[in-house]
Amino acid sequence: MSSPDPLAASRRLIRLTPASDFRNAARPLPEPVSLPIGGALLDTRSRPLRDLRISVTDRCNFRCGYCMPREAFGKDHAFLPQTALLSFEEIARVARLMLSLGVTTLRLTGGEPLLRKDLERLVALLASLRTRDGSAPDIALTTNGSLLRRKARALRDAGLNRVTVSLDALSPERFARMSDSPIAVADVLDGIAAAQEVGLGPIKVNMVVQKGVNDTEIEPMAAHFRNTGIELRFIEFMDVGNTNAWQRDQVLPSGVVRERLAARWPLQTIGVPRPGATAERCSYADGAGQVGFISSVTAPFCGDCTRLRLSTDGRLYTCLFASHGHDLRALLRAGEDDDTIRSRLAALWQQRADRYSELRGRVGMDERERIEMSFIGG
Ligand code: SAM
Ligand code: SF4
Ligand code: SF4
Repeated sequence: MSSPDPLAASRRLIRLTPASDFRNAARPLPEPVSLPIGGALLDTRSRPLRDLRISVTDRCNFRCGYCMPREAFGKDHAFLPQTALLSFEEIARVARLMLSLGVTTLRLTGGEPLLRKDLERLVALLASLRTRDGSAPDIALTTNGSLLRRKARALRDAGLNRVTVSLDALSPERFARMSDSPIAVADVLDGIAAAQEVGLGPIKVNMVVQKGVNDTEIEPMAAHFRNTGIELRFIEFMDVGNTNAWQRDQVLPSGVVRERLAARWPLQTIGVPRPGATAERCSYADGAGQVGFISSVTAPFCGDCTRLRLSTDGRLYTCLFASHGHDLRALLRAGEDDDTIRSRLAALWQQRADRYSELRGRVGMDERERIEMSFIGG
C-alpha cells in the first residue's frame, strides 16, 4: 500500500477564502508629513527604510502548495487584468521616490517575475536611477528559475545585479509534486547555470522546508550546491496568506536543519551580514562555501525588518503578513506631484509598527486575514 501523501493531506485543510477577494482591502496612504532633513526615515520601531520589493505579476507557471495551491489558484482564479498592473514607468517612478527616501535595494518578485513581458526594460529603467548617495541601486530578482536560461543575459545587460532562485527539491518526482507543474527540475538547474555564466551573482538558492514533505532533500541539496559559490538558504515554512493550510507541525526549525548539516559537514557561524538581512549564515569548515537559515517562525527578525512591498497593482504593504495594503496607484493615476507622493510614502513608513512574526501565536493574530505571498512577493 502506498504511504499517505502529506502534501495532499494538508491541502484538504485549505481554507477556501477566494484568493482574489482579499486583494481589495486597501486604504489610502496617510496624509503628508514634513520630511526629516538628512538622516534616515525611521518607523515607530526605529527601523530605516532600505529595501523595496516590487511584484511585477500575480501570475505564476508553478503552483507550489505552500504559496499558490491549485485548489485556490485554479483555472477559475481571477488574476489581475492588464489595466490594473502598474506600468514599468509607474514602477520606476515609485522606485525613484523610494530611493530618495533611503531605499538602496530593489528586488523584483511576483508571482513569477520572468512571466512579465520585457522585464529587462524595467530593469534598465531601474538601473538608471540613483540612491540618495548617488550610487546605483542594488537590483535583485527572485525567481523560480524556469525561464532564467532565456532571460539571464538580457537581464544582466539591462543592469540586473543578482538573482535568488527558489528550488525545493532535486529529485524530479518531489520537485514535480512541490511545484505542481510539468516543468522539469533540470530546467531550473539550467537556469541557475545560465545565471552563473553571465555573472548574475552572488547567486542564492532558497529552499522552503516542509517537514514530512521535502525534508529528505536537505542533504542532497546541500551536497549539490557545496563548492559551487552558490549560497543555499533554508527557509522555514511560513503562515503567509490564507490558502496554504499552514500548520506549525510542518515547520522544521532551522536549528534542526543546521544540526543535520553539521553532523555531516561541520559548520562555522558567520552571523547575520547586515541589519535587515534575513538569513543567519554559516560556512562549511572544509571551505566548501556558505549556507543560510531563514528562521522567520522560530527566530523572528522583525526588529531589523527594513522592507516595504509594492504589489503588482500598486498597493504598498508594510509587512508580509499585512491585512491590508495602501493604494499608491490611485495617487499615481490621479496626477499627484512627486513631493506630495513622497511625503505620503514617508508618512506611511513613519507610522509602521508591524512585527507579525514576533507576535505569531498570540490571541487573534493567527485568525487575521492576510495577503497572499504570490501577490506581494517574497
Ligand atoms: N516565483 C518566485 C519564486 O518562487 O522565487 C518569486 C515569488 S515567491 C512568492 C518568493 C519566495 O517566497 C520564494 O522563495 C518562495 O519559496 C517563498 N515562499 C512562498 N510561500 C512561502 C511560505 N509559505 N513559506 C516560506 N516561503 C515561502
Ligand atoms: Fe510561484 Fe514562486 Fe509561489 Fe512557487 S513560490 S507558486 S514559483 S510565486
Ligand atoms: Fe518584516 Fe513583517 Fe516579516 Fe516581521 S513579519 S520580518 S515585520 S515582514
